[in-house]
Amino acid sequence: MEVDNDEYFKSYEDLDIHELMLKDKPRNEAYRNAIMSNKKVFENSYVLDVGSGTGILSIFAAQAGAKKVFAVEASKLADLSREIVKENNFEDVIEVVNCKIEDFKLPETIDKVDIIISEWMGFYLLHESMLDSVLLARERFLRPGGLMFPDKAIIYISPCKLPSLFDDWENVSGIKMTKFAKQLRAQKSSKPEIQTIKNDDLLSEDTVMAFLDLNDVSSSELDLFEFNEVLVAKNSGNFQGMCIWFDVLFPSNDHEVILSTHPKDEPTHWKQTIIPLPSNIEFLEESYPIAFKLIIQRNPEHFRRYNILLEILDPESEDVQHPLPCDCNLT
Ligand code: SAH
Repeated sequence: MEVDNDEYFKSYEDLDIHELMLKDKPRNEAYRNAIMSNKKVFENSYVLDVGSGTGILSIFAAQAGAKKVFAVEASKLADLSREIVKENNFEDVIEVVNCKIEDFKLPETIDKVDIIISEWMGFYLLHESMLDSVLLARERFLRPGGLMFPDKAIIYISPCKLPSLFDDWENVSGIKMTKFAKQLRAQKSSKPEIQTIKNDDLLSEDTVMAFLDLNDVSSSELDLFEFNEVLVAKNSGNFQGMCIWFDVLFPSNDHEVILSTHPKDEPTHWKQTIIPLPSNIEFLEESYPIAFKLIIQRNPEHFRRYNILLEILDPESEDVQHPLPCDCNLT
């Protein structure tokens, strides 16, 4: 597996990215709640934080009573995180290690860890392929029966309207901009967009595209996701794009903690991933069938990127009805 990607780790030296994550309250609170509501399992445990960044998750684990936390961070941010750990008086519990998890070794006195924590999720869950490194850490360092935080991930999809992208061009301060709108649309439908969608703009019930059990999923299972489905429109309107989002879930005995990036929930920095269609498909009525094929496939030349291919099919004949596919990847 090719994970040597200096540019990728360098990008995490930019504090703007960490600022974005630290200001993402639903993200921080989900991890904090998940860890604090599991104090019994964190108490006296050995914890590995894969890609610890500023160290925020390691500090939650230390607050929950971990005996030792290994905070492994490949980028130079490790130096700053040592100061943050000290500022929070956990330098005796948290050991920041500045290396890739692929090169990390536990001290000889410790065979395995009890818990792995990591915030590895990218846009539409998979972008950046950091999960592969977390799975490698699970194979090498997690004891049998040890816990993954989070331990489940689900990718959802729904057809959607995109009024802010594709409508409202008839009158821009009194000027017609429909010619502009046409070209804008051609440009937009060649790659996915990261933006926040209104819940009311989803056109079908949420549909699970992929379910990952992080206790046993393997890296090779992340290479290709293929999904053929016929959905039913829940209201009439213009089908203008496909909306993709994800949830991750944490282990729990009683109340389950979910970090959701659903359009109905408080927005996160992941927003939603949208694949805009080149032209509208109009539903004249509810219950209109929407048949499509969605393929999310790891780009063979860029391990950290995926190609997304969407085909809208004619539900009657299974022919490609719409002038897609859009073969697109986020850079
Ligand atoms: N845990 C922090 C940072 C999450 S961002 C938080 O929740 O705020 C992901 C971090 O993982 C980045 O800082 C990145 O540099 C680091 N990272 C990604 N892949 C890694 C790998 N293979 N080994 C070590 N660190 C990695």
